Amino acid sequence: MKIINPATEEVIKDVEPTPTEKMAQYHGHALQAQKQWAQVSINDRLKVLDSYEKRVKDQRDELARLLTLETGKPISQARNEVTGSLDRVRHLKRYAHKWLESEVLSTGDVLEFVCYEPLGVIANISAWNYPYNVGYNVFLYALTAGNAVLYKPSEYATLTGLKIAELLEESGLPGHLFNVIVGDGSAGQQLLELPLDAYFFTGSHRTGLEIAKSVAPKLVPLQLELGGKDPLYVMEDVADVKQAAINAAEGAFYNNGQSCCAIERIYVHEAIYQDFVSHFVSAVKGYQIGDPMSEQTFIGPLTRSEQLGVFEKQCADALAKGAKLLLGGKRIQGKGFYFEPTIFVDVNHDMDLMKSESFGPIIGIQKVTDDSEALGLMDDTEYGLTASVFSADESRARTLLDQLDVGTAYWNCCDRVSPNVPWSGRRHSGLGSTLGASGIRTFTKPKAYHWKN
Ligand code: NAD
Repeated sequence: MKIINPATEEVIKDVEPTPTEKMAQYHGHALQAQKQWAQVSINDRLKVLDSYEKRVKDQRDELARLLTLETGKPISQARNEVTGSLDRVRHLKRYAHKWLESEVLSTGDVLEFVCYEPLGVIANISAWNYPYNVGYNVFLYALTAGNAVLYKPSEYATLTGLKIAELLEESGLPGHLFNVIVGDGSAGQQLLELPLDAYFFTGSHRTGLEIAKSVAPKLVPLQLELGGKDPLYVMEDVADVKQAAINAAEGAFYNNGQSCCAIERIYVHEAIYQDFVSHFVSAVKGYQIGDPMSEQTFIGPLTRSEQLGVFEKQCADALAKGAKLLLGGKRIQGKGFYFEPTIFVDVNHDMDLMKSESFGPIIGIQKVTDDSEALGLMDDTEYGLTASVFSADESRARTLLDQLDVGTAYWNCCDRVSPNVPWSGRRHSGLGSTLGASGIRTFTKPKAYHWKN
């Protein structure tokens, strides 16, 4: 399997996909290793994380360069991810005891208590857009809860996946607990064939659905963190229209729009619409596009070349249906998978741009007359990951956000994930949740004890 640098289209490395027999071997060894790991104290498991955190901090620049090399993520954003994602480690160090230790629930005639046992050996099939963040949400929490993991990084973030395994081993994680499966979707499919104890997936709705169908007969836990078409509504009472436009643009274009919770569509109250649009366009025009290794670059190449065709189709469809193009609209000629940051106005929900996940540097801005119109449009989607409202009026924003069927609601912020609160998608955006208080118990099965003396 060839690992390609999306900025230059050069082959960085040839790697050998993991053969099916090897996956079965990993599974056999993991079964044994997990039984022992489950007996290791929470403190000792956390010591491994502690050492891992130090190693990542020490090697931050090297890890960020590797991430940039294989995904095209601008280097400053890669560094942010490598260090920012360590908030998960700190979260686990703070709360693992509280969530994993047994709890006494009643002390009557019969003592009633619950123990949280690990699930066993789990699969983690993951995405490339934030391999540290979304990877940690699953495998660091799973390991801390006493599980073994067969981790399949995306084929677009393979080298980072292999590096993480190396770091975990150097940090003292016992052998066979974290096994990297190298390969593309077909390796993922083979992984589904193994009799694992649970399946955790981060990726597109399309693949998530295939996985759900394939593992359903096993009747084991399945969790899906899928895509979104996340809306932002900017009310007319925002304190500063320019600042709102700058923040919205960053929410849409950070990581080249390749974030599951990126702003994918914007609704703006008619009273500030013109002003907002002109500040939004200025903000996006100010982004430096180019070599992702440069400190100044904000927009690098797309990670996957296939996406270029997806955006071209969305642009053509929007133009054919009457949208007005204010910026961008085409791929950038030359080496690398570059697409111009693209802004459309005069858009509507007949256009694919406003309905299907774009996952790139392309956005539609639609004018609305009131909150009720905004609410109807925000809700006109099969996805349910996040929704944002920018407004000076907290209760007006809250009233609107409370009516949306989404896992995360943002007031005056967007495109952020915090380990303190659950991360979950509804409807086509997923099943189950990671992070927050439940994020570690997701990787356990409760056993109830009724204890009569
Ligand atoms: P993808 O679905 O193409 O691939 C995800 C993973 O599944 C990869 O490792 C891939 O090799 C594997 N895979 C592909 N086909 C498979 C199959 N048939 N069986 C088993 N495994 C298979 O998604 P992607 O391009 O890697 O990621 C982008 C998507 O992920 C976007 O939709 C994005 O919104 C979503 N995402 C969601 C979250 C979240 O937390 N909700 C986070 C990051 C990304």
